[in-house]
Amino acid sequence: MKTVPEYFGSLVFDDRVMKANLSANVYRSLRKTIDEGRPLDPGVANAVADAMKEWAVARGATHFTHWFQPLTGITAEKHDSFISPSPDGGVIMEFSGKELIKGEPDASSFPSGGLRATFEARGYTAWDPTSYAFIKGKTLCIPTAFCSYGGHALDKKTPLLRSMEALNRQALRILRLFGNTKAKCVRSSVGPEQEYFLVTKEMYDQRPDLRFTGRTLFGAKPPKGQELDDHYFGVIKPRVAAYMEELNDELWKLGILAKTEHNEVAPAQHELAPIYTTTNIAVDQNQLTMEIMQKVASKHGLVCLLHEKPFDGVNGSGKHNNWSIATDAGQNLLSPGETPYENAQFLLFLCAVIKAVDDYQDLLRIAVATAGNDHRLGANEAPPAVISMFLGDELNGVLEAIENDTPYQGTEKIQMKLGVDVLPNFNRDTTDRNRTSPFAFTGNKFEFRMVGSSDSIACTNIMLNSAVAESLKIYADRLEGSTDFENDLHEMIRKTIRDHKHIIFNGNGYDDRWIEEATQKRGLMNLRTTPDAIPHILDKKNVEMLTSHGVFTEEEIRSRYEITLENYCKSVTIEANTMVSMARTLIAPAVEAYASDIAKTAARKRELDAGLACGYETRLVKKLSELTDRIDEGTDELEKAIAALKDAKDIGEESAMIRDTLLEKMAVLRRACDEAEPLTAKSYWPYPTYADLLFGVK
Ligand code: ADP
Ligand code: MG
Repeated sequence: MKTVPEYFGSLVFDDRVMKANLSANVYRSLRKTIDEGRPLDPGVANAVADAMKEWAVARGATHFTHWFQPLTGITAEKHDSFISPSPDGGVIMEFSGKELIKGEPDASSFPSGGLRATFEARGYTAWDPTSYAFIKGKTLCIPTAFCSYGGHALDKKTPLLRSMEALNRQALRILRLFGNTKAKCVRSSVGPEQEYFLVTKEMYDQRPDLRFTGRTLFGAKPPKGQELDDHYFGVIKPRVAAYMEELNDELWKLGILAKTEHNEVAPAQHELAPIYTTTNIAVDQNQLTMEIMQKVASKHGLVCLLHEKPFDGVNGSGKHNNWSIATDAGQNLLSPGETPYENAQFLLFLCAVIKAVDDYQDLLRIAVATAGNDHRLGANEAPPAVISMFLGDELNGVLEAIENDTPYQGTEKIQMKLGVDVLPNFNRDTTDRNRTSPFAFTGNKFEFRMVGSSDSIACTNIMLNSAVAESLKIYADRLEGSTDFENDLHEMIRKTIRDHKHIIFNGNGYDDRWIEEATQKRGLMNLRTTPDAIPHILDKKNVEMLTSHGVFTEEEIRSRYEITLENYCKSVTIEANTMVSMARTLIAPAVEAYASDIAKTAARKRELDAGLACGYETRLVKKLSELTDRIDEGTDELEKAIAALKDAKDIGEESAMIRDTLLEKMAVLRRACDEAEPLTAKSYWPYPTYADLLFGVK
C-alpha cells in the first residue's frame, strides 16, 4: 500500500510534475507567469500543453475541460476528448497551447445578469496558471476564468484574482514605507473550515424536500436534538469514519491538504478543515472539496448535505473563512512582530482590517447572502446578521492605550509608543475564546464565520481583499507624502481606532441585547435577509470602491445584484412549490388516512357496544380533522402567494414579496404539518422523520 506522501497530489500537475516534465527554459518561463503574473509566451504554452497531455494520458485521462466557476455558485465543465484522427484510420492524442489557454464554451445558459445578450451566446474561458490543473475521473481539468466577449467577468474567479491584485498593489506600497524593498508580492491566504451533515441515501430519497431543495421543509422536533452536546467532538461512528477516510484519500490525491475532521455540535453534523493556502487556490480547492464530499458520500450509501440549514431547530452549517495576508517571503502581516517597527507595521495592517470591516460591513454581509444562509444568520446559533469584530482582551488593551495615550496594562505597564515599544506576545488562547463573533482575530489571522456552508468562498474574499486594499490605499496615500512618518503613522492608527472602535465587540454575539446595542447605540447595520442586504451592493460608496480598484466594472456589479436576487427568488420559490406538493400529495393524505382508520375503529367498536364512548378516537379524529383543514387552507394560501409573485415588476420587488409574505405562508403551512406529525401513527407518516434522519447513520 502506498503511503500518503507517495500519493499526495498524484492527480495534480503541480510544481514537482512541471519541474520533471518541462525543459528548464519552459519551466522558468511558466514560473514567472505563475509567480509574477507575466504574460505567457505562446511557445511556452504549446510545450506546457504537450507535457500536461502526456502526463494526463499516462494516468488514464481521455478528455480535457476548462473548469470554471460561473455565477451559479458551482463549477462548470465541458469535456473535449484529446483524440484527433490520424491518416492511417487510427487516432492520436492531441492538445495544443491554444486549447490550453483559451476555450469557447457555448455558455448561453449561464446567468450573466444582463451582461451578455442571449444572441451573444459565446463566452470564453482563459487559463489561470496560478491554480494547478488536475485529473478528475478521466478528465484533465484546467482551472479557468470565464468572461463574455465584451470582456466582462461572468464568473467568480476573475474578480477574485483582480481583488488579490488590488491588495497586492496597496500592501506593497505600505511595506515599502516600512523599508521593505525585498517583497515581490503580497497575497492573502485562506483556510476554510467546512461543515456538513450526513444522512443515509435511503432516507434522503424518500424526502422530496431534501432532494429538491437540500433542506427539510417539514419535520417535528425530535425527542432528542443537540441539547446534550454529546455529538461535538464525539467518537466518530464507523460508517462516518469510513467515509472520512476515503474522502481524505481522494482529496490528498488532488493535492488538497485535508487536515482536521471532527463531529460538530448537531447530531449527524461534521467538519472538515484543510491547511490554508493562497486564496485563489483555496477557493478552487474548496469548490472541489464540496464536489468530492458529495461524490464519496454516494459511494457509501450516504448523502452529504451542504445546505446552511438542513434541519429546523438544529444548528446549521457554515464555513469559517480564516484569512491572513503574507509576503512572498512568508511574512504574515497579521502576526505581531519581534521588533517595535514590525509591531507598528502589524498594527497598521490590523487597523486596515478594522477599518475595512467597518466601512464595508454591508459588502461582507452581501458576500454571504443567500436564501439558505438567511436561516442561519441571526437565528441564535451562527453569528448574527450584524457584523462586529472580536480582537481579544490583550489587543483591545493595546488599542485603548494607543487611543487614549495611556499606559498599556499588560503583564507589565508600558506606555505604548509606536516605533519604540515591543507589543506583548499574544497568547492565541486568549484571542480565540470568543466563538460567537462574526469576525474574530485569532492570533495571526481573522476568522470570518458568517459564510454559509454551500457558498463559494470567492465572494467573501473578493470583498475582504478589496475592502482591505482600500484602507491600505488611504493609508499609503497619506503616508507616502508624510514628512514625519512615525508621528503621522501614530496619528492614523489612533484615528482608525477612534473612528471605527464601534465595530469592536467582545461580548456574546448571540445575545438579543447585543443586537439592540449594535443597531440603536452603535449604528451598525443589521441586514437581516438577502433582500435587505443585496440592494446595498449598488450603494455609491461600494460601487466607487470596487470599481476604483478594478475589481468589478459597474455593469458587473449590476449583474451580481440581479443574479443574487434571482437565485434567492428561485430557491425560495422552489421550496414553496415543493411544500405545496408535499402537503397535498403526501402529508394531508397520510393524516386523513390515519384519521379515517381511527374513525372506522370507533364505528366498529360502537357496533359491538353502542354505549362505548370512544373518547380517544373521537378526540383524536377531531384534532386530526382540524389539522387537515389547516393544512388545506395553508396550502391554498401558499399557492396564492406563489402566484402573486408574477405581478412583481422587477427582481427587487419579487424578493421583497418573498421576504414579506411568502416566507410567512410557508411557516404557517409548516406549523400545521409539524403539529400533525406527532399525532399521526408512525406507520402512516410518508417519509423519515427528524429522529430517523439525524440518528440514522450508524
Ligand atoms: P480553529 O479555528 O478550529 O481553532 P485552527 O486555528 O487550527 O482551527 O485553524 C483553522 C483554519 O485556519 C485551518 O484551515 C488553518 O489552516 C487555517 N489557518 C491557520 N493559520 C492561517 C493563516 N495564517 N492564514 C489563513 N488561514 C490560516
Ligand atoms: Mg475556526
